[in-house]
Amino acid sequence: MIIDSHCHLDKLDTSHYPDGLAGLITAAQADGISQMLCIGVDTQQFAPMMAQIEPYDFIHASAGLHPLGVKELSSLALLEQQARHKKVVAIGETGLDYFYQQDNAALQQQAFAAHLDLSRQLKKPVIVHTRDAKADTLALLRDKADLEVGGVIHCFTEDWAMAKACLDLGFYISISGIVTFNNAKALREVVKKLPMEQLLVETDAPYLTPAPHRGQQNEPKHVRLVAQYVADLKGLSLAQLAAQTSQNFADLFLRS
Ligand SMILES: [Zn+2]
Ligand SMILES: [Zn+2]
Repeated sequence: MIIDSHCHLDKLDTSHYPDGLAGLITAAQADGISQMLCIGVDTQQFAPMMAQIEPYDFIHASAGLHPLGVKELSSLALLEQQARHKKVVAIGETGLDYFYQQDNAALQQQAFAAHLDLSRQLKKPVIVHTRDAKADTLALLRDKADLEVGGVIHCFTEDWAMAKACLDLGFYISISGIVTFNNAKALREVVKKLPMEQLLVETDAPYLTPAPHRGQQNEPKHVRLVAQYVADLKGLSLAQLAAQTSQNFADLFLRS
């Protein structure tokens, strides 16, 4: 049984399944995907997303404002309400993305800080998106994160120094299909060094489709390919990798 620790089910095109999202979820289950974490990215998207996943007790949710979508902070009060929902096991995705957008860095930082406060307040771990913003991400985590509650750096693509710093804070590192890309040699070296006890796998579907399906839409069932790839890098069986990452998922997100 493999868990997809980060996917955007409400952003998937499910038209190739006769019964839509239900069919896609059935296909994932048939491939051994036992649980999924469906990610909130803004307060408007949250309610429709929750309506879609409501029937499935093995699909968890998060509530957050994606750093690339943050325009103002007035929605933080609504975010707090949404984050209290019992299906919501994490705060995010939040974080800093200076690769795609740097002109609103101050706003991204304020929003990230608010998510870290909310994580501390509600005792729900944080899901961090970080790209080209190592120093500021670490500074905010060190300053504001509740290290007892912790969180995950999702879709990790940074170097070993960044990984080590996050691991030392007790954070988990989640690996996506990027690890299968031809140009991800440096990331593969990082993955080899990651401790098994702080490792998660994800699809980030519909984005970042792993090889050999690049060019097609990503789906949660492809987390099996990510897990197999990471298992091979670490010299483990898929079953071993799946068991440890599933335990890690439960330890991080389902302990309360
Ligand atoms: Zn992300
Ligand atoms: Zn995401």
